[in-house]
Amino acid sequence: MVLNYNCKVNKRCGGCQLSNMTYAEQLKFKQNQLEGLLSGFCKVNNIIGMENPFHYRNKVQAAFYYDFRRKRIMSGVYQSNSQTIVPVDSCMLENENADRIILTVRELCKSFKIPPYDIKKGYGFLRHVLVRTGCKTGEVMVVIVSATPVFPSRNNFVKALLKEHPQITTVVHNINNSEVNLMLGERSKTLYGKGYIEDELCGFKFRISPDSFYQVNPVQCETLYNKAVEFAQLTGRETVFDSYCGTGTIGIIASKNAKQVLGVELNRNAVKDAISNAKLNGVENIYFTCDDAGEYLEYIAGEGERFDVVMMDPPRAGASVKFLDSVVKAEPKRIVYVSCNPVTLKRDLEHLVKKGFFVNEIQPVDMFPFTKHIETVVKLSKSRK
Ligand code: SAH
Repeated sequence: MVLNYNCKVNKRCGGCQLSNMTYAEQLKFKQNQLEGLLSGFCKVNNIIGMENPFHYRNKVQAAFYYDFRRKRIMSGVYQSNSQTIVPVDSCMLENENADRIILTVRELCKSFKIPPYDIKKGYGFLRHVLVRTGCKTGEVMVVIVSATPVFPSRNNFVKALLKEHPQITTVVHNINNSEVNLMLGERSKTLYGKGYIEDELCGFKFRISPDSFYQVNPVQCETLYNKAVEFAQLTGRETVFDSYCGTGTIGIIASKNAKQVLGVELNRNAVKDAISNAKLNGVENIYFTCDDAGEYLEYIAGEGERFDVVMMDPPRAGASVKFLDSVVKAEPKRIVYVSCNPVTLKRDLEHLVKKGFFVNEIQPVDMFPFTKHIETVVKLSKSRK
């Protein structure tokens, strides 16, 4: 395989499945794949690519270890499905400033004699570092994840880190003593700043805590959400059901042109974030509930509740049959389906078409250049066009 992009660890890391192609070839490849799956429903619009497909990731994480051969502290990414760490200094997908911060942490660990954690021996301190950046606001959060709670030379370490990178707005210490290689543990302590950052999407502010879900490519995310809201054709009079709503992003953006929005999400922490995001933006016509989207919609649709628009953004597994059947019962004029997996998207569209909906428009957006992942937004309605 000829690599077009000079990455030393490409094979071992496995993060960039399409780096043997130019960016134009990647877009063509994704377009062909989608047309193969979905063109039976309607024409597939041209995929919206990025002007600059590099360094788009606003969330960068690194695992730390001691390299006995080279006798120094190193950091990198876990090889997929293993505990082996592949050393990484910089990555063409990651925010460059975040990569530099991680290299500084390596250097500081050396000068402060802070040992990385060795999971096999159960010895050491530093496990991971997570850097999240609010690309519009410029706010930067650094999360230092350790195996043990006592942070040696803590204050001086943070001072030295801030001196090197004054753009950091908050530093959090997270303790993760679990046996498995989860990124974050349950306990966190803010060492500097607010303990979270904020970013802006489509004119709204969103709070990002160390473990909040937030799309990793903010430029394309804005394009995707704008498309989703455009497909909803809101005039200010509609009731909207935002299912699989995560931290409320799509519903909050849609709320400005809707009468009322109801968001449903299974993850309790995400619902908490969604409620504070609505408050942060002074949005008063949105409500959130923590439940399984299918169970909840089945119940309220059974009670006679109806929605003008259903927006849905399910995980890779797609939606449940219970959910899809309840959508039909809620008699929406339009459905906007945001999908991160074209295979389950096809399956779910087939189900909705059988129940009398028409697929009106299919718009792919390249959210993850150099990877095989494809994001698509689809508009369905009760009429052919
Ligand atoms: N719309 C959001 C999040 C999409 S990710 C955004 O754009 O940011 C998919 C979300 O579906 C996740 O937050 C996940 O927790 C949630 N989820 C998964 N299964 C669910 C279910 N059965 N019912 C409701 N939410 C679910």
